[in-house]
Amino acid sequence: MADCLFCKIGERKIPGKIVYEDDRIFAFEDINPQAPTHILISPRRHFASLSDATEEDGALLGQILMVAAKLARERNLIEGGYRTVFNNGAGAGQSVFHLHLHLLGGRPFRWPPG
Ligand code: 5GP
Ligand code: ZN
Repeated sequence: MADCLFCKIGERKIPGKIVYEDDRIFAFEDINPQAPTHILISPRRHFASLSDATEEDGALLGQILMVAAKLARERNLIEGGYRTVFNNGAGAGQSVFHLHLHLLGGRPFRWPPG
C-alpha cells in the first residue's frame, strides 16, 4: 500500500533493522523497544489487522508465529519466557495499521497487560 510505513520498511524504501525475511514475511527491530528484545513480524502483503484476515490467511499467520518462535530461540528467550502480541484496533493500542506481531523478551512481564 502506497502510504504505509511498514510496507515501506518491508520494501526497504525506508530504513529498518530487518532481522529476518523470506518471500512472505519480514521482521525488524521496534524503533521504541519496550523490552531488551522487541521485534515486529509482518506479512509483506498489506493488511491492516487480524480483523481483516480471512480463512485463507491462516497459514501465513501460523508462519508469522513460527518466525517469532525461531527468533525467540535464537535470542535465548525460551528459559526466561517471552510474549507475543497482536494489538488489534486503536482501543487495544494499535498505532500502525499494517498487521504485525510483537515479540518481546528479556525482562519479566506482568499479567494482565495494561
Ligand atoms: P502497535 O502500537 O501498532 O501495536 O505497534 C506499532 C509499533 O511500531 C510500536 O511499538 C512502535 O514503536 C513501532 N514503530 C512505529 N514507527 C516505527 C518505525 O518507523 N520503525 C520501526 N522500526 N518501528 C516503528
Ligand atoms: Zn502496509
